[in-house]
Amino acid sequence: GAPQSDPEADDASRVLRRVFGYDSFREGQREIIDHVVAGGDALVLMPTGGGKSLCYQVPALVRKGTGVVVSPLIALMQDQVDALTALGVRAGFLNSTQEHEERREVEAAFLAGELDLLYVAPERLRTSATLGLLDRGSIALFAIDEAHCVAQWGHDFRPDYLALSALHERWPDVPRIALTATATEATHAEIAARLNLGEARHFVASFDRPNIQYRIAQKREPRRQLLQLLRTEHAGDAGIVYCLSRASVEKTAAFLAENGVQALPYHAGLDARTRAEHQARFLREDGLVMVATIAFGMGIDKPDVRFVAHLDLPKSIEGYYQETGRAGRDGLPSTAWMVYGLQDVVQQRRMIDTSEGDAAHRRRLSAHLDAMLALCETVECRRVHLLAYFGQESGACGNCDTCLTPPETWDGTIAAQKLLSAVLRLRRERGQSFGAGHVIDILLGRETDKVVQHGHASLTVFGVGTELNESEWRAVVRQLLARGLLTVESDHGTLALTDASADVLARRREVPLRRDPERAARAEAGARA
Ligand code: ADP
Ligand code: ZN
Repeated sequence: GAPQSDPEADDASRVLRRVFGYDSFREGQREIIDHVVAGGDALVLMPTGGGKSLCYQVPALVRKGTGVVVSPLIALMQDQVDALTALGVRAGFLNSTQEHEERREVEAAFLAGELDLLYVAPERLRTSATLGLLDRGSIALFAIDEAHCVAQWGHDFRPDYLALSALHERWPDVPRIALTATATEATHAEIAARLNLGEARHFVASFDRPNIQYRIAQKREPRRQLLQLLRTEHAGDAGIVYCLSRASVEKTAAFLAENGVQALPYHAGLDARTRAEHQARFLREDGLVMVATIAFGMGIDKPDVRFVAHLDLPKSIEGYYQETGRAGRDGLPSTAWMVYGLQDVVQQRRMIDTSEGDAAHRRRLSAHLDAMLALCETVECRRVHLLAYFGQESGACGNCDTCLTPPETWDGTIAAQKLLSAVLRLRRERGQSFGAGHVIDILLGRETDKVVQHGHASLTVFGVGTELNESEWRAVVRQLLARGLLTVESDHGTLALTDASADVLARRREVPLRRDPERAARAEAGARA
């Protein structure tokens, strides 16, 4: 509720200025705040760093009663409350990390009407004790932060979020504002349905982050490539490096440290104290590189993260967007850099096929992966592609790798036919299937042990692909996978044809392919020299 000392606090602009010290609202904030202050429900989609917190903090201060904020980020509650307290906002939190006495004090403050904001962990709202407590106090609004956690097949699903639909039944007159940075139509619809927000107004901010330069390169020696990026463009900068596994987090952090980069590991296998310490150091010190699994980052508000690097392919565009969105929250130029290779695709297909959940769930994961691959292999502006995925139109940005170094395309129809027919012949004539490495060896006519052992030199496709080198063939395989013209069987990572492959083999379909821009650049440099 409004601080009593400020008789004009019902004016959102005054709260913004006097409490938060800002001169003006950012795009979108004003309308959202007015709507919630007036008692309306809202579903807010705003990119990371867009300024979602103020959208509920200001109305909580303007309206009578306490703003109850549901947040899954228990580890950050203390920080959030400390930051608000420093601004003179009366804030508290209730979660499982608290001592009994501390909780009692927060509850008493709430009941006495002495809290402007109360952060609550979602699991608390399932207990009748907490619900009873809220009944006895005065509530200004419910803010449901990270609302995509209610999306059942999303990457951050939290079962406790499903119970939040009950808030509306219990307190029909209290406005609710759900906030997320996850933007697809399907996720919006799911949030609205599951949180009972059918009447809510939707506020969708632009997802463009113009200061972030998107780059996706071919994975060769990922750690060396990363080091090269850090040395040439981001020496001394703070950044986040995402790896898929804990082991690779540890290895990468050690590698960077050996090479003079201040790097810390972060993953769920580290004990809570180490994690908290690394996170605190990352936030407070300058120029630290956090090497982490995706366990790191949600809710982290560090404005000067200059780069986010992915050494492994994210599982979805949503994940990629959220993770890269942690770069450049201060609006200054920043880099979203990623390397990916065939092995990523093989590995992720395997993970999907062995994942728990039903066939529909696996199909969904698979669709997410396909969308991510399409972004990697696009010859269009990365930003156009990314924003289109979120349903937003834009023009070529001039600030991504494909805009800066337009990839050449080449007619890959014949190469695709050779590759697909090698896969087909192995299956038809030998009843066998192999991974990309061996199929490429066959195309290149290499007499490897495996080729000799299986007598594959006698296949008609043996040695028919010498016009391309190994890395070019790998690029062909990746792009065919990204377009569904080829697939990977999960159990052994072997290649298999899809229904669409037949069109290529029958010459009913052309296959323009992307030439690796780095190769093109090298070729050009070579030609100039
Ligand atoms: P989100 O939750 O959307 O990721 P935050 O609410 O943490 O973003 O805001 C990101 C940063 O922008 C914070 O440092 C916040 O203080 C700042 N910010 C938000 N709104 C404004 C504003 N109107 N003017 C200036 N800075 C703002
Ligand atoms: Zn672009």
